Amino acid sequence: MEFLQPTSWPEALTMKAAHPEAMPIAGGTDVMVEVNLDRHRPAAIIDLTRVAELTEWGGEGDLLRIGSGVTYARIIDELGDRLPGLAMASRTVGSPQIRNRGTVGGNLGSASPAGDAHPPLLAMDALVELASVHGSRRLPVSEFFIGPKRNAARPEELIAAFLIHPASGPQQFSKVGTRNAMVIAVCSFALALDPKRRRIGTGIGSAAPTPVTAADAERFMAGVLEEAGLWERPSEVDASAIARFGELVAAAARPIDDVRGTAAYRRHALSVLARRSFTWAWLEYQRSA
Ligand SMILES: Cc1cc2nc3c(=O)[nH]c(=O)nc-3n(C[C@H](O)[C@H](O)[C@H](O)COP(=O)(O)OP(=O)(O)OC[C@H]3O[C@@H](n4cnc5c(N)ncnc54)[C@H](O)[C@@H]3O)c2cc1C
Repeated sequence: MEFLQPTSWPEALTMKAAHPEAMPIAGGTDVMVEVNLDRHRPAAIIDLTRVAELTEWGGEGDLLRIGSGVTYARIIDELGDRLPGLAMASRTVGSPQIRNRGTVGGNLGSASPAGDAHPPLLAMDALVELASVHGSRRLPVSEFFIGPKRNAARPEELIAAFLIHPASGPQQFSKVGTRNAMVIAVCSFALALDPKRRRIGTGIGSAAPTPVTAADAERFMAGVLEEAGLWERPSEVDASAIARFGELVAAAARPIDDVRGTAAYRRHALSVLARRSFTWAWLEYQRSA
């Protein structure tokens, strides 16, 4: 196995262009499991841990641009106030060791339907920045997931960063699992209330071939809030509207029966998570208004 170790971003892109078959490694918390269990034996590996550019984050206009090599532990510590939904999801990832090594870029690279960073990125309408020696492009995270464990990056591309709006309102992330930590989600749900853009964002994990949004539920609840002027004068949202929101979230899922749960259970759990998440987030919005 060839081992490539660039020390700068241009060098990493040049190496990837010369070895499109090479597998990038960031924290290694997915890659090393695959290699150790002999599920995958890449001909070459590109170690990105010495590429300082990938570990940086900062503002870009209205957005935050976060390098793909920023770990979950740093998202929680350094960005928890600006990205509360992603920080909540990050706190549920693995164990402290995994959160210290594992990166959001690696989660995107694996593109597992169960990846915990994905629902909050979807709820926040994030962009993924891909780069190669030929230049870079940004695409909505909803277009990045193209199948189970498949993403839209071309062989010569690397994930440079993701771009995301800082929260303008409350956010939530909930995950159903058989225990509290070190567990792959049976299903998960992220919600973002965005009073600035008058938008409700959703993300669903582990309940479709890829992470997905619940567009009908988003439109429905944004309409309810807009019609009653609740963004400006927040008061209680009708229980029937919250129940309908839950139903629409469940309807957006395309779950299967597997070892972790049945499709019917996942749909039911999602409607409960959606109702609870909205109720918690709305209460927080009412209190802060
Ligand atoms: C014990 C354990 C518990 C875990 N718990 C969770 C959990 O609760 N929730 C969860 O979502 N995940 C969990 N994981 C999976 C894993 O930790 C995450 O998916 C993590 O985000 C992977 O990040 P990484 O930096 O370690 O990626 P790596 O393993 O380095 O890479 C993962 C994939 O991304 C690709 N890649 C990495 N960086 C780039 C880049 N810059 N450009 C292009 N491709 C790239 C790699 O080639 C590989 O395909 C767990 C793993 C373990 C071992």
